[in-house]
Amino acid sequence: MIDYRDLTYDELQDYLVKIGEKKFRTKQIFKWIHRGVEEFHEMTDLSIALREKLKDNGYICNMEVETKQESANDGTVKYLMHLKDGNLIECVLMRYSYGNSICISTQAGCSMGCSFCASTIGGKNKDLTGGEMIGQILKVQRDAGVKVSNIVLMGSGEPLDNLENVLRFFKIINYPEGINIGMRHITLSTCGLVPEILNLADMNLQITLAISLHAPNDEIRKGLMPIANKYSYEELINACNYYIEKTNKRITFEYALIDEINDRLEHAKELSMRLKGLLCHVNLIPINKVKERKYEKSQKTRIEEFKQVLLLNGIETTVRRELGSDIDAACGQLRRSYRTES
Ligand code: SAH
Repeated sequence: MIDYRDLTYDELQDYLVKIGEKKFRTKQIFKWIHRGVEEFHEMTDLSIALREKLKDNGYICNMEVETKQESANDGTVKYLMHLKDGNLIECVLMRYSYGNSICISTQAGCSMGCSFCASTIGGKNKDLTGGEMIGQILKVQRDAGVKVSNIVLMGSGEPLDNLENVLRFFKIINYPEGINIGMRHITLSTCGLVPEILNLADMNLQITLAISLHAPNDEIRKGLMPIANKYSYEELINACNYYIEKTNKRITFEYALIDEINDRLEHAKELSMRLKGLLCHVNLIPINKVKERKYEKSQKTRIEEFKQVLLLNGIETTVRRELGSDIDAACGQLRRSYRTES
């Protein structure tokens, strides 16, 4: 059976023709699907016979809100969604002055093994389909009664380890008759899969690429992120250079500051040397404490000093606002706590 949310506009059109419908129905049905209907009877301007036919030939891959946590401080809402196949995934709605942003998951769990991250503790359960990525947006929009204008692929999972489905997702949400969010409003975050970064560069998609760097050198990075054993720091930075050259887009480097592990001033100096001259932005993130992990957040003064070193070296740097710090907003934490409690 086919999941209608997982079809591009052209695929839906071919499908409708195949089941004996007229092409012009595509626009009408695509609009309904991406407006977030969960049942065919909600498509009120279609005949009952057509609604039945759609139902007989496919389904809308809904997900249910298993639980949600709302921050009292800033309105951030973290959702734990229950997929039809039993998997639990997380996504987060963040409200900014410029609009609503959603952070979505691209996999249930993750196999990358970063030592500070809760998503990876149980390994990867599965790659999400494009329809399941779209489902997170539609469910949150429906539940919160808002329209989302920015998307970040920074929830559970490694998007470049599920690139085919991610590209399908981009194609579907880009479509004017659907969710209609352009590439410039999408950020994809990766732990640094070099061949896929090179691939993305060649596609010149105009998304913002964020690289989880978290270290100033190979030695520290290897201690935090197993992927560093596969691709060296140098290879990663070279791939970033290639990406910038091909796309003319600034890269964001994410750097989670962990007390005494990667937050010393000598680390800031080394990082500055590495990134000098690169069209980039560094986002310093005070690490979120994860119950199962030993790492501690850096001191506030240390974070500020670290930032100053980068700025003095001409590297554009900001400290990420800690949205939702009163809820389990860090990657994989809600799913984890739910799993261990139930
Ligand atoms: N796999 C992708 C995207 C998911 S993680 C990636 O690695 O980029 C999204 C971001 O959250 C990454 O930068 C990741 O390193 C970071 N992250 C994970 N656990 C964290 C924690 N406990 N505190 C702060 N940031 C964390």
